[in-house]
Amino acid sequence: MCALLALEPALMAQELPTLGEAGGEDLSPLEERRYGEEIMQQYIRRSPEYLDDPETIEYINQLGYQLVAASAARNIDFEFFVLRDPTINAFALPGGFIGVHTTLILMAQNESELASVLGHEIGHIQQRHLARSLARQRDSAMIAMGSVLLALLAARSGGGQGSQAALALGQAAAISRQLSFSRDNEREADRVGFQILVDAGFDPQGMADFFTRMQQGTRAYASMAPAYLQNHPLTEERIADMQARIRSAHTHQHADSLDFQLIRARLHVLQDESTQGVRDQLTNFTDQVVHHSAVSDTAAYYGIALSNLKLKQPGPALEAAQAARRSTSVPSAMLDDIVSLASYEAARNDAEREAVLKLARETATHFPLSRSVAMQYTDMLQRAHHHAQAIAYLREQLALSHNDPDYYNFLAISYAALDQKTLQHQATAELYLLLGSTPAAVEQLQLARKVADADFYTMTEVDARLRQLTALAREEREEAKNNAGRGP
Ligand SMILES: [Zn+2]
Repeated sequence: MCALLALEPALMAQELPTLGEAGGEDLSPLEERRYGEEIMQQYIRRSPEYLDDPETIEYINQLGYQLVAASAARNIDFEFFVLRDPTINAFALPGGFIGVHTTLILMAQNESELASVLGHEIGHIQQRHLARSLARQRDSAMIAMGSVLLALLAARSGGGQGSQAALALGQAAAISRQLSFSRDNEREADRVGFQILVDAGFDPQGMADFFTRMQQGTRAYASMAPAYLQNHPLTEERIADMQARIRSAHTHQHADSLDFQLIRARLHVLQDESTQGVRDQLTNFTDQVVHHSAVSDTAAYYGIALSNLKLKQPGPALEAAQAARRSTSVPSAMLDDIVSLASYEAARNDAEREAVLKLARETATHFPLSRSVAMQYTDMLQRAHHHAQAIAYLREQLALSHNDPDYYNFLAISYAALDQKTLQHQATAELYLLLGSTPAAVEQLQLARKVADADFYTMTEVDARLRQLTALAREEREEAKNNAGRGP
Protein backbone atom coordinates (compact mmCIF):
# COMPACT_ATOMS: atom_id res chain seq x y z
CA MET A 1 0.00 0.00 0.00
CA CYS A 2 3.02 2.24 0.31
CA ALA A 3 4.26 1.63 -3.22
CA LEU A 4 3.97 5.22 -4.30
CA LEU A 5 6.35 6.46 -1.67
CA ALA A 6 8.73 3.53 -1.60
CA LEU A 7 11.88 3.93 0.43
CA GLU A 8 15.02 4.78 -1.48
CA PRO A 9 17.32 1.78 -2.03
CA ALA A 10 20.00 3.10 0.32
CA LEU A 11 17.51 3.00 3.16
CA MET A 12 16.73 -0.61 2.54
CA ALA A 13 20.20 -1.79 3.53
CA GLN A 14 19.63 -5.12 5.21
CA GLU A 15 20.92 -4.74 8.69
CA LEU A 16 20.44 -7.86 10.69
CA PRO A 17 18.50 -7.52 13.88
CA THR A 18 20.76 -7.73 16.88
CA LEU A 19 19.67 -9.20 20.14
CA GLY A 20 21.57 -7.05 22.58
CA GLU A 21 24.01 -8.38 25.12
CA ALA A 22 24.50 -12.01 25.89
CA GLY A 23 23.39 -12.79 29.37
CA GLY A 24 21.31 -15.95 29.44
CA GLU A 25 18.31 -14.12 30.87
CA ASP A 26 14.92 -14.17 29.18
CA LEU A 27 14.33 -11.41 26.72
CA SER A 28 12.34 -8.61 28.31
CA PRO A 29 8.93 -8.07 26.71
CA LEU A 30 10.25 -4.79 25.28
CA GLU A 31 13.33 -6.44 23.73
CA GLU A 32 11.17 -9.21 22.33
CA ARG A 33 8.76 -6.72 20.79
CA ARG A 34 11.56 -4.67 19.24
CA TYR A 35 13.12 -7.78 17.78
CA GLY A 36 9.79 -8.93 16.37
CA GLU A 37 9.08 -5.47 14.94
CA GLU A 38 12.47 -5.49 13.19
CA ILE A 39 11.78 -8.88 11.62
CA MET A 40 8.38 -7.61 10.47
CA GLN A 41 9.78 -4.40 9.00
CA GLN A 42 12.88 -5.81 7.38
CA TYR A 43 11.58 -9.09 6.06
CA ILE A 44 7.90 -9.87 6.40
CA ARG A 45 6.12 -6.70 5.28
CA ARG A 46 8.51 -6.38 2.34
CA SER A 47 8.13 -9.94 1.14
CA PRO A 48 5.95 -10.48 -1.93
CA GLU A 49 3.99 -13.12 -0.02
CA TYR A 50 2.83 -10.63 2.60
CA LEU A 51 -0.87 -10.15 1.86
CA ASP A 52 -1.33 -6.38 2.00
CA ASP A 53 -5.10 -6.63 1.82
CA PRO A 54 -6.99 -4.43 4.31
CA GLU A 55 -10.06 -6.74 4.46
CA THR A 56 -8.02 -9.85 5.19
CA ILE A 57 -5.81 -8.09 7.74
CA GLU A 58 -8.87 -6.68 9.49
CA TYR A 59 -10.61 -10.06 9.61
CA ILE A 60 -7.66 -12.06 10.94
CA ASN A 61 -6.96 -9.44 13.60
CA GLN A 62 -10.60 -9.33 14.69
CA LEU A 63 -10.66 -13.10 15.05
CA GLY A 64 -7.27 -13.08 16.77
CA TYR A 65 -8.35 -10.41 19.23
CA GLN A 66 -11.49 -12.33 20.21
CA LEU A 67 -9.08 -15.02 21.38
CA VAL A 68 -6.54 -12.66 22.92
CA ALA A 69 -9.33 -11.04 24.96
CA ALA A 70 -10.07 -14.46 26.49
CA SER A 71 -6.39 -15.16 27.26
CA ALA A 72 -3.95 -14.12 29.94
CA ALA A 73 -1.98 -12.28 27.26
CA ARG A 74 -4.48 -9.41 27.04
CA ASN A 75 -1.78 -6.86 27.85
CA ILE A 76 0.37 -7.84 24.85
CA ASP A 77 -0.03 -6.01 21.52
CA PHE A 78 -0.66 -8.79 19.04
CA GLU A 79 -0.47 -8.39 15.30
CA PHE A 80 -1.87 -11.10 13.05
CA PHE A 81 -0.87 -11.23 9.39
CA VAL A 82 -1.42 -13.46 6.36
CA LEU A 83 1.10 -14.82 3.85
CA ARG A 84 0.08 -15.95 0.38
CA ASP A 85 1.49 -19.46 0.48
CA PRO A 86 0.47 -22.87 -0.90
CA THR A 87 1.54 -24.72 2.25
CA ILE A 88 -0.53 -25.14 5.37
CA ASN A 89 1.17 -23.31 8.19
CA ALA A 90 0.91 -20.82 11.03
CA PHE A 91 3.69 -19.53 13.23
CA ALA A 92 4.51 -17.08 15.98
CA LEU A 93 7.37 -14.59 15.82
CA PRO A 94 8.86 -12.83 18.85
CA GLY A 95 6.79 -9.98 20.28
CA GLY A 96 3.24 -11.13 19.50
CA PHE A 97 3.36 -11.34 15.70
CA ILE A 98 1.40 -14.32 14.39
CA GLY A 99 1.46 -15.33 10.72
CA VAL A 100 -1.07 -17.56 8.96
CA HIS A 101 -0.78 -18.96 5.44
CA THR A 102 -3.69 -18.38 3.04
CA THR A 103 -3.95 -22.12 2.40
CA LEU A 104 -4.52 -22.82 6.08
CA ILE A 105 -7.45 -20.38 6.11
CA LEU A 106 -8.86 -21.98 2.96
CA MET A 107 -8.49 -25.47 4.39
CA ALA A 108 -10.32 -24.67 7.63
CA GLN A 109 -13.93 -25.79 7.26
CA ASN A 110 -15.27 -23.65 10.04
CA GLU A 111 -14.18 -20.68 12.09
CA SER A 112 -13.47 -22.76 15.21
CA GLU A 113 -10.88 -24.75 13.26
CA LEU A 114 -9.05 -21.58 12.25
CA ALA A 115 -9.42 -20.17 15.78
CA SER A 116 -7.89 -23.33 17.26
CA VAL A 117 -4.66 -22.78 15.30
CA LEU A 118 -4.50 -19.11 16.37
CA GLY A 119 -5.25 -20.11 19.97
CA HIS A 120 -2.30 -22.49 20.01
CA GLU A 121 0.07 -19.80 18.69
CA ILE A 122 -1.27 -17.27 21.21
CA GLY A 123 -0.53 -19.95 23.80
CA HIS A 124 3.16 -19.98 22.79
CA ILE A 125 3.33 -16.22 23.18
CA GLN A 126 1.37 -16.07 26.43
CA GLN A 127 3.74 -18.65 27.94
CA ARG A 128 6.74 -16.72 26.55
CA HIS A 129 8.21 -19.77 24.83
CA LEU A 130 9.95 -17.71 22.15
CA ALA A 131 11.47 -15.30 24.63
CA ARG A 132 12.99 -18.23 26.48
CA SER A 133 14.26 -20.09 23.46
CA LEU A 134 15.70 -16.87 22.00
CA ALA A 135 17.49 -16.08 25.25
CA ARG A 136 19.12 -19.52 25.24
CA GLN A 137 20.48 -18.90 21.76
CA ARG A 138 21.22 -15.24 22.18
CA ASP A 139 25.00 -15.39 21.81
CA SER A 140 25.76 -16.97 18.50
CA ALA A 141 22.96 -18.85 16.86
CA MET A 142 20.61 -15.90 16.89
CA ILE A 143 23.02 -13.57 15.16
CA ALA A 144 22.64 -15.91 12.18
CA MET A 145 18.92 -16.00 12.57
CA GLY A 146 18.35 -12.72 10.76
CA SER A 147 20.22 -13.97 7.71
CA VAL A 148 18.45 -17.30 7.88
CA LEU A 149 15.06 -15.58 7.95
CA LEU A 150 16.10 -13.48 4.98
CA ALA A 151 17.14 -16.59 3.06
CA LEU A 152 13.93 -18.31 4.02
CA LEU A 153 11.85 -15.49 2.61
CA ALA A 154 14.02 -15.34 -0.51
CA ALA A 155 13.47 -19.04 -1.02
CA ARG A 156 9.73 -18.58 -0.55
CA SER A 157 9.51 -15.84 -3.14
CA GLY A 158 11.30 -18.11 -5.61
CA GLY A 159 13.89 -15.38 -6.16
CA GLY A 160 16.90 -17.56 -5.40
CA GLN A 161 18.56 -19.49 -8.21
CA GLY A 162 20.78 -22.55 -8.33
CA SER A 163 23.15 -22.88 -5.43
CA GLN A 164 21.67 -19.80 -3.81
CA ALA A 165 18.28 -21.46 -3.68
CA ALA A 166 19.78 -24.67 -2.35
CA LEU A 167 21.57 -22.71 0.33
CA ALA A 168 18.34 -20.92 1.21
CA LEU A 169 16.47 -24.17 1.52
CA GLY A 170 19.11 -25.62 3.80
CA GLN A 171 18.81 -22.53 5.94
CA ALA A 172 15.04 -22.77 5.86
CA ALA A 173 15.33 -26.18 7.46
CA ALA A 174 17.71 -24.70 10.01
CA ILE A 175 15.30 -21.95 10.93
CA SER A 176 12.34 -24.23 11.29
CA ARG A 177 14.45 -26.27 13.72
CA GLN A 178 15.46 -23.12 15.58
CA LEU A 179 11.93 -21.84 15.79
CA SER A 180 10.41 -25.14 16.77
CA PHE A 181 9.65 -25.59 20.40
CA SER A 182 10.25 -28.40 22.83
CA ARG A 183 7.57 -31.02 23.29
CA ASP A 184 6.81 -29.56 26.69
CA ASN A 185 6.24 -26.20 25.03
CA GLU A 186 3.89 -27.77 22.49
CA ARG A 187 1.94 -29.56 25.18
CA GLU A 188 1.61 -26.33 27.12
CA ALA A 189 0.50 -24.35 24.03
CA ASP A 190 -2.11 -27.04 23.32
CA ARG A 191 -3.45 -26.82 26.86
CA VAL A 192 -3.46 -23.01 27.02
CA GLY A 193 -4.79 -22.72 23.45
CA PHE A 194 -7.64 -25.08 24.25
CA GLN A 195 -8.68 -22.99 27.26
CA ILE A 196 -8.51 -19.78 25.24
CA LEU A 197 -10.65 -21.35 22.52
CA VAL A 198 -13.34 -22.47 24.97
CA ASP A 199 -13.31 -19.19 26.93
CA ALA A 200 -13.69 -17.21 23.70
CA GLY A 201 -16.80 -19.25 22.84
CA PHE A 202 -15.46 -21.38 20.00
CA ASP A 203 -16.09 -25.09 19.56
CA PRO A 204 -12.95 -27.00 20.67
CA GLN A 205 -13.96 -29.95 18.52
CA GLY A 206 -12.57 -27.73 15.75
CA MET A 207 -9.05 -28.35 17.01
CA ALA A 208 -9.36 -32.13 16.84
CA ASP A 209 -11.13 -32.05 13.46
CA PHE A 210 -8.58 -29.79 11.90
CA PHE A 211 -5.57 -31.77 13.10
CA THR A 212 -7.14 -35.02 11.96
CA ARG A 213 -7.85 -33.63 8.52
CA MET A 214 -4.34 -32.24 8.21
CA GLN A 215 -2.94 -35.65 9.02
CA GLN A 216 -5.19 -37.33 6.47
CA GLY A 217 -4.14 -34.68 3.96
CA THR A 218 -0.50 -35.53 4.60
CA ARG A 219 -1.10 -39.19 3.96
CA ALA A 220 -3.16 -38.58 0.84
CA TYR A 221 -0.89 -36.08 -0.86
CA ALA A 222 2.77 -36.14 0.06
CA SER A 223 3.25 -32.85 -1.78
CA MET A 224 0.80 -31.14 0.56
CA ALA A 225 2.76 -32.25 3.63
CA PRO A 226 1.72 -29.42 5.87
CA ALA A 227 4.65 -27.44 7.12
CA TYR A 228 2.66 -27.00 10.29
CA LEU A 229 2.95 -30.67 11.14
CA GLN A 230 6.73 -30.55 10.80
CA ASN A 231 6.89 -28.16 13.72
CA HIS A 232 3.86 -29.67 15.41
CA PRO A 233 4.15 -33.43 15.10
CA LEU A 234 0.83 -35.04 15.85
CA THR A 235 1.48 -37.76 18.33
CA GLU A 236 -1.16 -40.20 19.50
CA GLU A 237 -0.68 -38.64 22.89
CA ARG A 238 -1.42 -35.15 21.60
CA ILE A 239 -4.68 -36.23 19.97
CA ALA A 240 -5.71 -38.27 23.01
CA ASP A 241 -5.09 -35.24 25.26
CA MET A 242 -7.23 -33.13 22.95
CA GLN A 243 -10.10 -35.61 23.00
CA ALA A 244 -9.97 -35.92 26.79
CA ARG A 245 -10.14 -32.16 27.18
CA ILE A 246 -13.11 -31.95 24.82
CA ARG A 247 -15.01 -34.58 26.86
CA SER A 248 -14.46 -32.77 30.14
CA ALA A 249 -14.97 -29.21 28.93
CA HIS A 250 -18.24 -27.35 28.94
CA THR A 251 -18.43 -26.64 25.24
CA HIS A 252 -20.90 -25.25 22.79
CA GLN A 253 -21.52 -25.00 19.10
CA HIS A 254 -20.18 -21.92 17.40
CA ALA A 255 -21.88 -20.38 14.39
CA ASP A 256 -19.41 -19.12 11.81
CA SER A 257 -19.40 -15.38 11.21
CA LEU A 258 -20.45 -14.14 7.79
CA ASP A 259 -17.01 -12.53 7.51
CA PHE A 260 -15.36 -15.97 7.77
CA GLN A 261 -17.23 -17.11 4.65
CA LEU A 262 -16.60 -13.84 2.83
CA ILE A 263 -12.87 -13.86 3.59
CA ARG A 264 -12.53 -17.41 2.32
CA ALA A 265 -14.24 -16.39 -0.94
CA ARG A 266 -11.95 -13.37 -1.10
CA LEU A 267 -8.80 -15.46 -0.53
CA HIS A 268 -9.82 -17.92 -3.24
CA VAL A 269 -9.65 -14.97 -5.63
CA LEU A 270 -6.53 -13.30 -4.16
CA GLN A 271 -4.61 -16.59 -3.93
CA ASP A 272 -3.94 -16.50 -7.68
CA GLU A 273 -4.59 -13.13 -9.30
CA SER A 274 -3.56 -14.17 -12.81
CA THR A 275 -6.35 -13.74 -15.38
CA GLN A 276 -6.72 -17.51 -15.68
CA GLY A 277 -6.71 -17.96 -11.90
CA VAL A 278 -9.46 -15.38 -11.46
CA ARG A 279 -11.49 -16.82 -14.36
CA ASP A 280 -11.31 -20.27 -12.75
CA GLN A 281 -12.65 -18.84 -9.50
CA LEU A 282 -15.43 -17.04 -11.33
CA THR A 283 -16.44 -20.39 -12.88
CA ASN A 284 -16.30 -22.14 -9.48
CA PHE A 285 -18.45 -19.57 -7.73
CA THR A 286 -20.92 -19.42 -10.61
CA ASP A 287 -21.27 -23.23 -10.55
CA GLN A 288 -21.92 -23.09 -6.80
CA VAL A 289 -24.75 -20.61 -7.30
CA VAL A 290 -26.23 -22.50 -10.24
CA HIS A 291 -26.12 -25.89 -8.49
CA HIS A 292 -27.07 -24.53 -5.04
CA SER A 293 -23.93 -26.16 -3.66
CA ALA A 294 -22.39 -23.16 -1.91
CA VAL A 295 -21.79 -23.33 1.85
CA SER A 296 -22.91 -19.71 1.79
CA ASP A 297 -24.75 -18.20 -1.19
CA THR A 298 -23.76 -14.76 0.05
CA ALA A 299 -20.08 -15.72 -0.12
CA ALA A 300 -20.48 -17.26 -3.58
CA TYR A 301 -22.09 -14.05 -4.90
CA TYR A 302 -19.33 -12.08 -3.19
CA GLY A 303 -16.76 -14.27 -4.98
CA ILE A 304 -18.48 -13.64 -8.32
CA ALA A 305 -18.52 -9.88 -7.68
CA LEU A 306 -14.85 -9.76 -6.70
CA SER A 307 -13.71 -11.94 -9.63
CA ASN A 308 -15.61 -9.72 -12.05
CA LEU A 309 -14.04 -6.61 -10.53
CA LYS A 310 -10.57 -8.13 -11.01
CA LEU A 311 -11.49 -8.95 -14.61
CA LYS A 312 -12.67 -5.34 -15.12
CA GLN A 313 -16.29 -6.31 -15.75
CA PRO A 314 -18.12 -3.79 -13.56
CA GLY A 315 -21.65 -4.56 -14.81
CA PRO A 316 -21.74 -8.25 -13.78
CA ALA A 317 -19.73 -7.33 -10.65
CA LEU A 318 -22.42 -4.90 -9.52
CA GLU A 319 -25.21 -7.37 -10.21
CA ALA A 320 -23.49 -10.06 -8.09
CA ALA A 321 -22.56 -7.58 -5.32
CA GLN A 322 -26.20 -6.53 -5.04
CA ALA A 323 -27.34 -10.16 -4.98
CA ALA A 324 -24.85 -10.83 -2.15
CA ARG A 325 -26.11 -7.79 -0.20
CA ARG A 326 -29.79 -8.77 -0.70
CA SER A 327 -29.17 -12.38 0.40
CA THR A 328 -28.62 -11.49 4.07
CA SER A 329 -29.67 -8.86 6.58
CA VAL A 330 -26.48 -9.28 8.64
CA PRO A 331 -24.59 -5.96 8.89
CA SER A 332 -21.35 -6.35 6.96
CA ALA A 333 -18.73 -3.79 6.03
CA MET A 334 -17.33 -6.15 3.40
CA LEU A 335 -20.68 -6.46 1.63
CA ASP A 336 -21.44 -2.72 1.78
CA ASP A 337 -17.94 -2.04 0.49
CA ILE A 338 -18.14 -4.34 -2.51
CA VAL A 339 -21.49 -2.82 -3.47
CA SER A 340 -19.99 0.70 -3.42
CA LEU A 341 -16.83 -0.36 -5.22
CA ALA A 342 -18.74 -2.13 -7.99
CA SER A 343 -21.16 0.83 -8.22
CA TYR A 344 -18.22 3.22 -8.53
CA GLU A 345 -16.62 1.16 -11.30
CA ALA A 346 -19.97 0.85 -13.10
CA ALA A 347 -20.83 4.57 -12.78
CA ARG A 348 -21.17 6.27 -16.17
CA ASN A 349 -20.88 9.94 -15.18
CA ASP A 350 -19.96 12.35 -12.37
CA ALA A 351 -23.50 12.50 -10.99
CA GLU A 352 -23.56 8.72 -10.54
CA ARG A 353 -20.10 8.77 -8.99
CA GLU A 354 -21.20 11.47 -6.51
CA ALA A 355 -24.15 9.27 -5.48
CA VAL A 356 -21.76 6.37 -4.85
CA LEU A 357 -19.50 8.59 -2.74
CA LYS A 358 -22.49 9.47 -0.58
CA LEU A 359 -23.18 5.76 -0.12
CA ALA A 360 -19.52 5.09 0.76
CA ARG A 361 -19.61 7.91 3.31
CA GLU A 362 -22.65 6.25 4.94
CA THR A 363 -20.76 2.95 5.15
CA ALA A 364 -17.84 4.78 6.75
CA THR A 365 -20.24 6.26 9.33
CA HIS A 366 -21.78 2.84 10.07
CA PHE A 367 -18.38 1.20 10.54
CA PRO A 368 -16.26 3.98 12.09
CA LEU A 369 -13.55 1.62 13.28
CA SER A 370 -13.13 -0.35 10.09
CA ARG A 371 -9.79 0.41 8.50
CA SER A 372 -10.66 -1.32 5.23
CA VAL A 373 -13.83 0.79 4.87
CA ALA A 374 -11.80 3.94 5.58
CA MET A 375 -9.18 3.01 3.01
CA GLN A 376 -11.69 2.28 0.29
CA TYR A 377 -13.59 5.51 0.98
CA THR A 378 -10.37 7.54 0.87
CA ASP A 379 -9.30 5.86 -2.34
CA MET A 380 -12.64 6.75 -3.96
CA LEU A 381 -12.44 10.38 -2.79
CA GLN A 382 -8.98 10.64 -4.32
CA ARG A 383 -10.03 9.03 -7.57
CA ALA A 384 -12.86 11.58 -7.77
CA HIS A 385 -10.27 14.37 -7.05
CA HIS A 386 -11.98 15.40 -3.79
CA HIS A 387 -8.62 15.96 -2.10
CA ALA A 388 -9.68 18.53 0.49
CA GLN A 389 -12.44 16.18 1.60
CA ALA A 390 -10.00 13.24 1.68
CA ILE A 391 -7.60 15.24 3.88
CA ALA A 392 -10.32 16.21 6.36
CA TYR A 393 -11.48 12.60 6.56
CA LEU A 394 -7.92 11.25 6.98
CA ARG A 395 -7.26 13.73 9.80
CA GLU A 396 -10.32 12.33 11.59
CA GLN A 397 -9.07 8.76 11.06
CA LEU A 398 -5.57 9.64 12.26
CA ALA A 399 -7.05 11.02 15.47
CA LEU A 400 -8.35 7.48 16.11
CA SER A 401 -5.25 5.56 15.02
CA HIS A 402 -2.28 7.85 14.74
CA ASN A 403 0.23 5.16 13.84
CA ASP A 404 -1.09 3.98 10.53
CA PRO A 405 1.44 4.40 7.70
CA ASP A 406 -1.20 3.91 5.00
CA TYR A 407 -3.19 6.94 6.22
CA TYR A 408 -0.04 9.11 6.05
CA ASN A 409 0.63 7.74 2.59
CA PHE A 410 -2.87 8.77 1.43
CA LEU A 411 -2.46 12.14 3.13
CA ALA A 412 0.81 12.80 1.29
CA ILE A 413 -0.87 11.91 -2.03
CA SER A 414 -3.70 14.41 -1.46
CA TYR A 415 -1.35 17.21 -0.33
CA ALA A 416 0.80 16.56 -3.40
CA ALA A 417 -2.30 16.81 -5.62
CA LEU A 418 -3.14 20.18 -4.00
CA ASP A 419 0.51 21.30 -4.37
CA GLN A 420 0.89 21.85 -0.62
CA LYS A 421 4.51 20.81 -0.37
CA THR A 422 5.33 21.45 3.29
CA LEU A 423 2.32 19.42 4.37
CA GLN A 424 3.17 16.72 1.84
CA HIS A 425 6.72 16.35 3.22
CA GLN A 426 5.44 16.51 6.78
CA ALA A 427 3.07 13.58 6.13
CA THR A 428 5.78 11.64 4.28
CA ALA A 429 8.11 12.14 7.27
CA GLU A 430 5.57 10.46 9.58
CA LEU A 431 5.15 7.65 7.04
CA TYR A 432 8.91 6.97 6.93
CA LEU A 433 9.15 7.11 10.71
CA LEU A 434 6.43 4.46 11.00
CA LEU A 435 8.23 2.35 8.40
CA GLY A 436 11.30 2.43 10.63
CA SER A 437 13.54 4.93 8.88
CA THR A 438 14.27 7.93 11.08
CA PRO A 439 16.96 9.43 8.77
CA ALA A 440 14.50 9.48 5.83
CA ALA A 441 11.92 11.17 8.08
CA VAL A 442 14.46 13.83 9.06
CA GLU A 443 15.26 14.45 5.40
CA GLN A 444 11.55 14.97 4.62
CA LEU A 445 11.20 17.47 7.47
CA GLN A 446 14.23 19.37 6.18
CA LEU A 447 12.54 19.56 2.77
CA ALA A 448 9.30 20.68 4.46
CA ARG A 449 11.21 23.50 6.12
CA LYS A 450 12.96 24.53 2.92
CA VAL A 451 9.82 24.91 0.78
CA ALA A 452 7.99 26.65 3.65
CA ASP A 453 4.65 27.05 1.87
CA ALA A 454 2.48 26.44 4.95
CA ASP A 455 1.13 28.69 7.70
CA PHE A 456 3.12 29.79 10.76
CA TYR A 457 1.55 27.19 13.02
CA THR A 458 2.53 24.31 10.71
CA MET A 459 6.08 25.62 10.31
CA THR A 460 6.48 25.72 14.11
CA GLU A 461 5.22 22.14 14.25
CA VAL A 462 7.74 21.09 11.58
CA ASP A 463 10.61 22.75 13.49
CA ALA A 464 9.70 21.03 16.74
CA ARG A 465 9.36 17.64 15.09
CA LEU A 466 12.64 18.09 13.23
CA ARG A 467 14.51 18.75 16.49
CA GLN A 468 12.89 15.72 18.06
CA LEU A 469 13.66 13.33 15.21
CA THR A 470 17.21 14.63 14.68
CA ALA A 471 17.93 13.70 18.29
CA LEU A 472 16.30 10.31 17.79
CA ALA A 473 18.36 9.63 14.65
CA ARG A 474 21.54 10.49 16.59
CA GLU A 475 20.61 8.07 19.38
CA GLU A 476 19.90 5.32 16.87
CA ARG A 477 23.28 5.86 15.17
CA GLU A 478 25.09 5.61 18.47
CA GLU A 479 23.21 2.48 19.44
CA ALA A 480 24.05 0.87 16.08
CA LYS A 481 27.73 1.81 16.53
CA ASN A 482 27.79 0.25 20.01
CA ASN A 483 26.17 -2.95 18.76
CA ALA A 484 28.63 -3.20 15.86
CA GLY A 485 31.56 -2.63 18.24
CA ARG A 486 30.51 -5.53 20.40
CA GLY A 487 30.36 -7.83 17.41
CA PRO A 488 29.42 -11.47 17.22
ZN1 LIG B 1 3.26 -25.02 18.50
